[in-house]
Amino acid sequence: MMHLQDLWRTIVLKVQPQVKTHQFATWFQDTAVLEFSGKTLKIGVPNVFSHEQLAKKWAHFILDAAKAVNPEVDSITYEIQGSLFNGKDGRGLDVRGLILDGKTPRKLPNKQEVKLAEGVSSKLLNPRYTLDNFVVGPTNRLAHAASLAVGRNPGGAYNPLFVYGGVGLGKTHLLQGIGHEILRNNSDAIVVYIPSERFVNEIVDAIGKRHTKEFRARYRKVDCLIIDDVQFLANKDQTQEEFFHTFNELYDARKQIIISADRPPKELSGLADRLRSRFEMGMIVDVQFPDFETRLAILHAKCTEHEVLIPSEVLEFIAHNVHDSVRELEGVLLQAIAQAELEQSTPTVRSVGMILARLNKHEVLMGYQQERGEHMVARNAEDVLQIVSTYYNLRSEDIVSAERRKEVLMPRQIAMYLIRQELNQSLEAIGTLFGGRNHTTVLHACEKIIEQLRKDQRLVRDVNAIKKEMGL
Ligand code: ADP
Ligand code: MG
Repeated sequence: MMHLQDLWRTIVLKVQPQVKTHQFATWFQDTAVLEFSGKTLKIGVPNVFSHEQLAKKWAHFILDAAKAVNPEVDSITYEIQGSLFNGKDGRGLDVRGLILDGKTPRKLPNKQEVKLAEGVSSKLLNPRYTLDNFVVGPTNRLAHAASLAVGRNPGGAYNPLFVYGGVGLGKTHLLQGIGHEILRNNSDAIVVYIPSERFVNEIVDAIGKRHTKEFRARYRKVDCLIIDDVQFLANKDQTQEEFFHTFNELYDARKQIIISADRPPKELSGLADRLRSRFEMGMIVDVQFPDFETRLAILHAKCTEHEVLIPSEVLEFIAHNVHDSVRELEGVLLQAIAQAELEQSTPTVRSVGMILARLNKHEVLMGYQQERGEHMVARNAEDVLQIVSTYYNLRSEDIVSAERRKEVLMPRQIAMYLIRQELNQSLEAIGTLFGGRNHTTVLHACEKIIEQLRKDQRLVRDVNAIKKEMGL
């Protein structure tokens, strides 16, 4: 029987090609099957955004895919489950790990897939999680250094490597990054990455089918075993027992073992003492929530990775206002990108502020409510100048000046256009505001923008974003 979350993963993978990447990465993130009873599949979604999209826009695509995967499904219901948000609930699907598009740095060598197919099942390593694109800062430097050391010299001094830290702080990224590094240095190595829940499922299946011998034999062939989130092994005595044997065999054969958990070994209650003490034999490192500069660097890196340009004040705003995890940081960014794509605009402080507010963040948003909340409606030409110049990172003096640099020319024309179009001011009045220019100059500017808006998508996005800032 297919496990429920595998069923959902398969369905989602079928839907994926029809959805734009950023939207896919946002709407389907952290979704899970809650129940499959009768013929109804009950899907949990983490927030209202996903609910809107899945239950309305994508519902019939998902249902078609579900029927194709399992003909017993005849309806799907969706329910918001806050506990799924940001991966706090182990069941949620990490779809960002499923995005394997053409731009990804490197696919796993086929050999690896073949070897895994022989028996040991493993979620494929996500090519996006490499040690190279892990942004290093004071709160994760040691963990990153240890990961690199293990990647270069598996089975060496840091065995096992135990990485701990809260949800969404980069443990899985580091663990998979080590896997890639090992494979890069030795493409014949058998690297197995397995989340603990899946490990439990495999063992339960093996015990049920009386295949535990085969199970052990399979894992004995592994050169590097990566087990993610071992806190889920708590109180699963039989699984722990099997794992203990596997651990010892691999360790004695000087094979690398890498483990992650949400807390240090000592605090893992529900785990057998002998297992905990094994975890303490090698190297223990932690990851903590990154400081502001590192958060900003991560956002910049993610923008590069997703090939999007976002004004730096927006990135700073996000970095200031996310206090939970890197996963959330990335989530807000992707949400902002996806939303802007839908609206054909560019993310702004205002649009991100609204996303954060809707994600139930009740805290005061830094740099938003105090400074901006009240000034959002552009009532006069000065407001428009202010908004346009902030958007383009210029001073409003530059915009009204006689300067003819290319960087100010277009913003100036946009400002004229918006003041004319949205505030209905006369060409003469606008001319005066812009340093005593002639009204024909203003007219020309407005016509130029109208013409450009017909063919320049980038400009359409910019103007839409500015209009949103103006409260339109
Ligand atoms: P955990 O396993 O600790 O819950 P993940 O490894 O899944 O966290 O990280 C959540 C997201 O944040 C991933 O998309 C990951 O790429 C990203 N991330 C976390 N830390 C960093 C970092 N230092 N640099 C780049 N991306 C990071
Ligand atoms: Mg993880």
